[in-house]
Amino acid sequence: MISSYRLNIISVKVQELHKQFNIAEFPIKMPQILKKFYGDKIVIKQVDIQGSADVVANYDSIHDVTAIIINKNRTSPHLHKRLNFSLAHELGHIVLGHYKFYASTNKVSLDYIEEEANEFAAQFLVPERQFIIRPYDEKWLSDIFFVSTEVIKKRYEHVNSRNKAKSTEQKKLDMMIDKYLFDV
Ligand SMILES: [Zn+2]
Repeated sequence: MISSYRLNIISVKVQELHKQFNIAEFPIKMPQILKKFYGDKIVIKQVDIQGSADVVANYDSIHDVTAIIINKNRTSPHLHKRLNFSLAHELGHIVLGHYKFYASTNKVSLDYIEEEANEFAAQFLVPERQFIIRPYDEKWLSDIFFVSTEVIKKRYEHVNSRNKAKSTEQKKLDMMIDKYLFDV
């Protein structure tokens, strides 16, 4: 489970990037974002990979470049939403410093790192404020944010349980930050 300290770091990182990328509308299409803002840091290639992986990423510490290999066999139209999430997940590993962190320690489990990258991707592609202002319809939201309905379902559970735990003061602060970031 991700600590509240790390959750805060993830949401701050997401908010910074949304600002930096000038995200004004949804869905966020990851291939364009990565090409535009990480052209020199991320190389995306489509390769024929045997097996079930959608995306494989490899960090080259010498050149500080991440190679993202997309499985050619997994890019049919109905898998595009999953691919979008996978690319956001890989961006999460990069911006949360997982590769450098992982090279220097083995105290944190790989599962934990994966959980953080998934959390990053969910927050990045489906920002909480943008999510809760819309009616809850899984299929429709899945098209709006271009993620699978599984991601929408999980996001719904997370947002609800976290909001329940928040104090009135925290909620007020969240709204102020949203107003600053998204003008809502
Ligand atoms: Zn990962």
